[in-house]
Amino acid sequence: MGSVARTAVIGGGMAGCAAARELVRSGREVVIFEVGEGLGGRARSWHRPEIEPTVGINLMYVSFYPLMSKLVEEFGLKDELVKISSSVYISDGGDAVPLSSDSPINVLKYPLASLRDRFAFALAGIREVLRRDQMDLFDPLKAAPFDDGTSIAEFAHRYMSPRGFDFLLRPQVEGFWNFRCEDVSNVHGRALLAWLGGSDFYVFRGGMQVLAERLAEGADARFGHEVSDLQLTGSGVQVSARTPVGEPVSEVFDDVVVATPAPIAAKLTATLPADVVGSETRAFLETQEYEPAISFAYLVDHGSLPAEAHIVAGGSADPPIRNMITYPRKVRDEQGRPVDKLLVFAYPGRALTRRLLGASPEEQFATVTPLLNTLWRDFPADPEPFQIAERPFGFPIPAPGRYRQSAEVIGRLRPPVAFAGDYFNSPTTEAALLSGTRAAHALTAAG
Ligand SMILES: Cc1cc2nc3c(=O)[nH]c(=O)nc-3n(C[C@H](O)[C@H](O)[C@H](O)COP(=O)(O)OP(=O)(O)OC[C@H]3O[C@@H](n4cnc5c(N)ncnc54)[C@H](O)[C@@H]3O)c2cc1C
Repeated sequence: MGSVARTAVIGGGMAGCAAARELVRSGREVVIFEVGEGLGGRARSWHRPEIEPTVGINLMYVSFYPLMSKLVEEFGLKDELVKISSSVYISDGGDAVPLSSDSPINVLKYPLASLRDRFAFALAGIREVLRRDQMDLFDPLKAAPFDDGTSIAEFAHRYMSPRGFDFLLRPQVEGFWNFRCEDVSNVHGRALLAWLGGSDFYVFRGGMQVLAERLAEGADARFGHEVSDLQLTGSGVQVSARTPVGEPVSEVFDDVVVATPAPIAAKLTATLPADVVGSETRAFLETQEYEPAISFAYLVDHGSLPAEAHIVAGGSADPPIRNMITYPRKVRDEQGRPVDKLLVFAYPGRALTRRLLGASPEEQFATVTPLLNTLWRDFPADPEPFQIAERPFGFPIPAPGRYRQSAEVIGRLRPPVAFAGDYFNSPTTEAALLSGTRAAHALTAAG
């Protein structure tokens, strides 16, 4: 009696680290098994010393993320935040025009949709804003009652023409997440309408992993450890993993939070009995689909594209290039003088992303570079290919009806194995944080 409970957290992304924090705070001994070389998961940035700031892929924190806002305050990370402009451009076959949903007036000036559709869109935005308290982008327990099995496309077609939808709402969803609006619950689009307007966007100066690292303080993080199996034993759950040198290790814990992408979670827990992972939970994990993501970073001359812009393809087709995000950076020239450049992140459309996954960087760049002007006609002809980041489990797709299933699965989370990840709701770091916190509470509430 009196020995400290020990919990394993599998996966050191935002969900796993949020879980670790709650578990450490409840007095447990916590070990994080992470296959990568650091914390943050999909929110972890790459760094290259040739550019200033050195940080690459850098996730956005939006002012309406409640948990993250609280953590930034608590950890004293306000000075780490860099505010960025949220200017959005919609491209119609290479010709891009600004669309800021910040105010209905801006929407009314937008030339790519009819006046009737612009009014309908602005009104829909106002209607959802009035329901802000109910429309939540992160919490499936709040979203579930609105998840009536219809998609964003079905929701939007009720009040605007197909063209209006393709150039007003669709690009603002698919330009962030790349999944088809036909495949996604209406709640996701409505919550975006409710919350996006008037929000401030930030990045963390050194990358968002700073938050993961702070959350994990007090836990023992073991990097390069790939968990391969979980088994129930008489005294708890046995976690089997391979170390960075491929050596098999295993250790028994009182309980476990599995915070990997859903298909990996399903595999790791495949042989656990039905009283530990029930059939609904198992089906929820096994049926979760993902849109993979590959980000292509280029350096181009400052001024050749707008800075801090989000350029998104309009229309219903799956385009060769889905979107671009541009950030200012300084690069040293041969004399060591700083030169202003733009770091451009380009994301291919769905079919091209799938085709390029796992190919060599040379082949990936050779395919994508000639296509960049399909999104921005005047894209410089000789961009400098800089870095590629692949995320095979990029964006979990919140299919119609998924929030209701998610709410049911959350209601069933209990020891000794709880699950966490952004797939419980929208693919955002905020949803991952909430899910990790919930999984930890499901373990600690039971003792
Ligand atoms: C290109 C892109 C851009 C994005 N931009 C934004 C943005 O601007 N703002 C925003 O809020 N969100 C953004 N997101 C979404 C956000 O990154 C995710 O929602 C969030 O990071 C998911 O966190 P998670 O902890 O659920 O999963 P993950 O981050 O995937 O964490 C899971 C962890 O488990 C580890 N793991 C997997 N298998 C094993 C194993 N067998 N053993 C041990 N460890 C394992 C992985 O290495 C990983 O670290 C973006 C996503 C992508 C792909």
